[in-house]
Amino acid sequence: MAARPAPYLDDLNPAQRQAVEALDGPVLMLAGAGTGKTKALTARIVHLLATGRARPNEILAVTFTNKAAREMKLRVGRNLGEAVEGMPWMGTFHSICVKMLRRHAELVGLKSNFTILDTDDQIRLLKQLVLAANIDEKRWPARMLAGLIDHWKNRAWTPAKVPAAEASAFNNRGTELYEQYQERLKTLNAVDFGDLLLHMVTIFQAHPDILEQYQRWLRYILVDEYQDTNVAQYLWLRLLAQGHRNICCVGDDDQSIYGWRGAEVGNILRFEKDFPGARVVRLEQNYRSTPHILAAASGVIAANAGRLGKTLWTERETGEKVRLIGHWDGEEEARWIGEEIEALQRGTRGFDPVSLDDQAILVRASHQMRAFEDRFLTIGLPYRVIGGPRFYERQEIRDAMAYFRLAVSPADDLAFERVVNTPKRGLGDKAVQSIQLAARGAGANLIDGARELLAQGGIGGKGAGQLRAFVDGVDRWHAATLAGANHIELAETILEESGYTEMWQNDKTPEAPGRLENLKELIKALEQFENLQGFLEHVALIMDNESEDVAEKVSIMTLHAAKGLEFPVVFLPGWEDGLFPSQRAMDETGLKGLEEERRLAYVGITRAERLCTISFAANRRVYGQWQSQLPSRFIDELPEDHVEVLTPPGLYGGGYGAAAQPFGGSRIEERATRADVYNSPGWKRMQDNAATRPVAQPRESRNQVIDLQAVSAFTEGDRVFHQKFGYGTIVGIEGDKLDVAFDKAGVKKLVARFVVPADR
Ligand code: ATP
Ligand code: MG
Repeated sequence: MAARPAPYLDDLNPAQRQAVEALDGPVLMLAGAGTGKTKALTARIVHLLATGRARPNEILAVTFTNKAAREMKLRVGRNLGEAVEGMPWMGTFHSICVKMLRRHAELVGLKSNFTILDTDDQIRLLKQLVLAANIDEKRWPARMLAGLIDHWKNRAWTPAKVPAAEASAFNNRGTELYEQYQERLKTLNAVDFGDLLLHMVTIFQAHPDILEQYQRWLRYILVDEYQDTNVAQYLWLRLLAQGHRNICCVGDDDQSIYGWRGAEVGNILRFEKDFPGARVVRLEQNYRSTPHILAAASGVIAANAGRLGKTLWTERETGEKVRLIGHWDGEEEARWIGEEIEALQRGTRGFDPVSLDDQAILVRASHQMRAFEDRFLTIGLPYRVIGGPRFYERQEIRDAMAYFRLAVSPADDLAFERVVNTPKRGLGDKAVQSIQLAARGAGANLIDGARELLAQGGIGGKGAGQLRAFVDGVDRWHAATLAGANHIELAETILEESGYTEMWQNDKTPEAPGRLENLKELIKALEQFENLQGFLEHVALIMDNESEDVAEKVSIMTLHAAKGLEFPVVFLPGWEDGLFPSQRAMDETGLKGLEEERRLAYVGITRAERLCTISFAANRRVYGQWQSQLPSRFIDELPEDHVEVLTPPGLYGGGYGAAAQPFGGSRIEERATRADVYNSPGWKRMQDNAATRPVAQPRESRNQVIDLQAVSAFTEGDRVFHQKFGYGTIVGIEGDKLDVAFDKAGVKKLVARFVVPADR
């Protein structure tokens, strides 16, 4: 091998090279962000192929997203200087398990053409079971059961394996419903996402011969982002690696951000125990970010307890400090970021022009995206949403697809249920229940149940005629499909005859025109397929791919979706308590949730190569209601020496800087005052009533709760703090309105919920 030129080894440092060249036996690469873990993992695949150690189909490589798999494949090809044929076992846990499960479906009672349900279908199914079990769905929502079942599946618990300690779950009915749900899935020849791994683990455990076969085939295993594997994934990997032990996992405990989904960072710690003699490689040089960015990220994550701990250093030039800026509200924040992106693109700010492709906005919650999308549409700034609600996940698209599914297969009960009363056909929940009863009684599917019900005259009024028309429509469309009618025309006909297009035409909401556009897009998409069935299969498969596009665009995505990626310029908006960290994490009793949020902050900052801008808004509209915000506690943890505070021109000149500029002239004071606020008895009292800082409640209920609270919380003479006006004393109270004499801003009348009590 020494004789052979190997450029892919030349640009690795010694530690990376060691991890790449140690082909046999277990290897764990445990290192911080941007240290080249993914790069080394890719080089290892190249090395396996270049040295002839393995053929492409003998390598099992698990990436975190399909996109990452595609990129890795491209890079491997480029490094080998030839396109790699195949690499069938490179992908996400899910995509690899689908492939395996198709081959062995019958072992778990499924056919190989099983369907994969999405969350919507899953919830609808669970809802039926909950209702059938006479459980009050309002108190015990199907969504909660879905979460519970997911949690169990992530731990690789089949219904029989759910431990007794969980017996009280979901009003003592959890396990029983889980069992029924699995039965229903079998009848429907369907799986949910959690099943993909669960079924494969079950199969491997029950059929050693099959497991052995895979162990022989897949001789080298590589796993990226190992810190985010859950128990089921971990078991699956361990089973596959048991024989040859050629497994290389890379990860970073500080970037474990899927604990809420059952990921166990403990898997990393367990690695050396499971695979004795494992070579552990640590990388410390960061190649991605400038020293200021790295220091800021390290400063934040240092506040977490129980870390494995690691040093990171970089040889890169000092560069810019991390920038911090406060805005009046979310719109203002979006406007400023839009302008900033355009300025960077033009090449001002002392930077060479930065392509839009090299700039990203990373948000904590997907609802933050809308402000940016709106703003960017207005100013014509091209953007792409990565991992957001994708085209095929939109409501109108899913409705239309349900109609197409019925045309292909009238027995598709989930599709039937989705659209039988969309548009409204005068068929309420009760009518749908009668259809279900009739179907169950006859051991038939819903459409036949509906026929039966109509024949018996079991449905009255306007609904009967409309149901008849719906059933006749499905029959007609199905017949047309069987007769090989042109599927594009058929699709248009279906949407028209069903009244679905008309429904949106008559809809006066601002979204309706966009939805009609989407339906047109959908018809357009059909052109690339021979028939509806082919199209439906395609959609089921592409759910994780975004559209390829040539034009340069800013990326908008959640912090979770940004894992493993890097951008020269990164914006991190919405650093406010209640948003980031999330209210949920803040409400938790332990620190677990808060620490996971902090790791998310670390992931966010370490995505940036050259410029990182953190921002927050003093006011934010949540569900149509204004709410005043406090800057994120993570902002306090940013090391001051590596941060530059920006002041948007004209916004904070007038003396209420403290709230918006924690590092402004009175930084120390601001820190102290934040602590004061949190420690004051009034604040604690308000915290006790969780409803005083609600994030996602409908308008009415929140108003009531807050107003009551506000009235009782203050008396004249109380010192208070306001986001914009700073400190002041209450000089008058009138219902929920306060007159406050602010130290700097004079006397103002304002609504009580916009101030918090302050200690003297
Ligand atoms: P993360 O934890 O965020 O997933 P990572 O450890 O996987 O990060 P990579 O994405 O592999 O890091 O690498 C980060 C950047 O550093 C990439 O641009 C990569 O090309 C570069 N890089 C990695 N190793 C080296 C090296 N030895 N020499 C030069 N550049 C390197
Ligand atoms: Mg990586």
